[in-house]
Amino acid sequence: MATLHINEERCKGCGFCVMSCPKKALSLAARPNTAGYYPAQCDDEKCIKCGICYTVCPDIVFTITED
Ligand code: SF4
Ligand code: SF4
Repeated sequence: MATLHINEERCKGCGFCVMSCPKKALSLAARPNTAGYYPAQCDDEKCIKCGICYTVCPDIVFTITED
């Protein structure tokens, strides 16, 4: 099974991934990271591990691993 990992500290809260997710699994968190950006968060129940967020993110926030 694949797992989507989010490195919140790398996120700049641009929202590209939120707009691109075909399952509407992503949103921006209510609490900022240490740089002051509101990082992407994922609803794992909706995520299908398609990798689109990994592709569009300019800051290499996402990784997907196979367990
Ligand atoms: S892997 Fe696909 S479904 Fe999951 S959060 Fe990223 S874009 Fe959305
Ligand atoms: S595309 Fe990357 S930097 Fe932009 S909100 Fe999503 S995770 Fe954060």
